[in-house]
Amino acid sequence: MNDGKKASKIKFSYSSDDNDITAATSVSEEEEDSAMCDQTSADYYFDSYSHFGIHEEMLKDEVRTKTYQNVIYKNSFLLKDKIVLDVGAGTAILSLFCAKVGAKHVYAVECSQMADMAQEIVKANGFSNVITVLKGKIEEIELPVLQVDIIISEWMGYFLLYENMLNSVLYARDKWLDMIFYQILALSEHYTLNYTLKWQVNNGLVLPDKAALYLTAIEDAEYKEDKIDFWNNVYGFDMSCIRKQSMIEPLVDSVDQKQIVTNCQLLKTMNISKMTMGDASFTAPFKLTAERDDYIHALVAYFDVSFTQCHKLTGFSTGPKSRVTHWKQTVLYLEDVLTICQGETITGSMTVAQNKKNPRDIDITVKYALSGRRCAVSRTQSYKMR
Ligand code: SAH
Repeated sequence: MNDGKKASKIKFSYSSDDNDITAATSVSEEEEDSAMCDQTSADYYFDSYSHFGIHEEMLKDEVRTKTYQNVIYKNSFLLKDKIVLDVGAGTAILSLFCAKVGAKHVYAVECSQMADMAQEIVKANGFSNVITVLKGKIEEIELPVLQVDIIISEWMGYFLLYENMLNSVLYARDKWLDMIFYQILALSEHYTLNYTLKWQVNNGLVLPDKAALYLTAIEDAEYKEDKIDFWNNVYGFDMSCIRKQSMIEPLVDSVDQKQIVTNCQLLKTMNISKMTMGDASFTAPFKLTAERDDYIHALVAYFDVSFTQCHKLTGFSTGPKSRVTHWKQTVLYLEDVLTICQGETITGSMTVAQNKKNPRDIDITVKYALSGRRCAVSRTQSYKMR
């Protein structure tokens, strides 16, 4: 772990019964005046996206925000005269980028109180005639149009899938994105109808349209001692029950690339234009080969996103070898310390699923085995991102 960097987590949840956001509302002028001023700490607790702090962090993440800006500014041919839906608009930054390059109209949907600010920001920048801010959940709002040409969203959470906002993007895609339907009627040799093939292709675009999750393994003795084993003896007392919990929760932090011991393996690719909601739950095998003799304390997951429809392929990586982003990396500590020799492999699988009780949480199960000259282990560990 990088010295001095504190592990952080974005807390996100909707208000318990969601009764503060029932339907889409365009923010009225009177409402604007009171926007944000009457937020209570309870509002922020229930919905951290209502506070500007989290948006500041995201906007200042230049890897993230400048990639979106470049995608839009350098590929204005994609956006010009198009109807755009910004899913989870936040401060409306992506909507503003789109409006600036000539989108015909942008619907900026935001469920948190930040929608009020977005409305004000849109007005202050002279885009009220192009951008319509809709306050509400994408799943509950009504759009004034039947379909849109482009869906843009920054939906990625820690470990790519934490917060599960991807489902909201897929929901919007299936409901509003321009689709072409193909139908083939297959005839038998006697010209009787045998079967029908139907499929649909998105005519519209989803930005970004590809995401990929990767896995690697690291040496991390010092930090594991500090974050996990610390609980074994706290001022002479046994607090190892908390150690168990600290093992279960993956740690979001930035990993120094010097700690990487094995290759980095692609676990899962997602095609946002085509995938179904179920595709975000999966089991993927992995095989990590040690590039030197070392000890392994943890697996590390990270993701890439790409915009393959751009004139030149554009995207970014949140991996330890790339410039750090606010997503950092996700560290999953192993119960065992693996003594691995160069060329030896850790094999296993990772299962990722939405938590049944709280679909914004993620359950991760890792099976791993090493049968090496100096170490032989095989274990299954469960983690929960919450
Ligand atoms: N697009 C902004 C904000 C990205 S963060 C930017 O790039 O800076 C994701 C935003 O989506 C948050 O502001 C959150 O409140 C909002 N959001 C999450 N789920 C949503 C849903 N189902 N409907 C509408 N907004 C949602």
